[in-house]
Amino acid sequence: MNDTDTIQWERFRNSLLSQESKLKAAELETQAAADQEYKVFLKHIKRGECYICGKPLKTMSSGLPCSHWLLRPKGVKKHDVYKVLASTGYHRSAAFLRWHSNFKGFTRNINDLKNEGDPSALFHWSCTYEHRHWTFKCSRTDYQGHAGKKTAFPHYHFQMMLAGQVFIKFNDSHIPFTDEDLFWIRADLDPHSPIKQSFGPHGSGMQDAMNVDPASILYNTVRSKEGEIEKAVYNIESIISRPEGIPSETIQAAIDASTKSGETIAYHLKEMGLGPKIVISPAESIPENPDRNRTR
Ligand SMILES: [Zn+2]
Ligand SMILES: [Zn+2]
Repeated sequence: MNDTDTIQWERFRNSLLSQESKLKAAELETQAAADQEYKVFLKHIKRGECYICGKPLKTMSSGLPCSHWLLRPKGVKKHDVYKVLASTGYHRSAAFLRWHSNFKGFTRNINDLKNEGDPSALFHWSCTYEHRHWTFKCSRTDYQGHAGKKTAFPHYHFQMMLAGQVFIKFNDSHIPFTDEDLFWIRADLDPHSPIKQSFGPHGSGMQDAMNVDPASILYNTVRSKEGEIEKAVYNIESIISRPEGIPSETIQAAIDASTKSGETIAYHLKEMGLGPKIVISPAESIPENPDRNRTR
């Protein structure tokens, strides 16, 4: 990033700061547009179509690259995926994939947990859709560009796996950001910026799920059905410590009540006045968030 970019950004940011009411209106407008777009997405995906180009998700036709190529329909090669990423940009590509991930199960297919990614990276997260698994990562040095090398431009790294097999490796390429991406990264890195990038409610991931108030999780979560444990978002554990011990019938009563009502066992133990210590963590079935094994 050069000084001219920084000066331009700060001038723009300051002009935004001086028009707060306009900013609020623009934000509401953006959200309404995203909601509208999401309705279009739902209509198309239920028919197995791409909501952007309207063509079946399972096919590619030559011509302009479309985001749905990221799902790797038949005929799409690595270089086609790069073409889409470079022309569509990181944020738009990520948003596209996150909507698909969430369509198959809200938040649980997007592992953007801060404590599972590289804490020093600008972003490092993964998501899945059916047998596909994508990881996006940008470290500080990727953003700055690797000095003295051909890759001395701001970029990120991308991994794609298909049914557990690596299709695109992290180090296969250095994917450039679009101007729009760089604009949002700048906004996110600037603590004084009144605007921040967001994937919105339809693009929420596990970090958002974990940010929900624990009481609300306990009272609004239902227990996973038998054989559907991989659909869980949370793992809820209850720890009860009483010197006199707890009769096994009491625990059984909580389990029975949970089976009958669908509410969690922890919820019933609490309602029965047993004062359990409740630990809420992400479900074990959420996607892995692999890291590059070496940094260049
Ligand atoms: Zn398309
Ligand atoms: Zn790099």
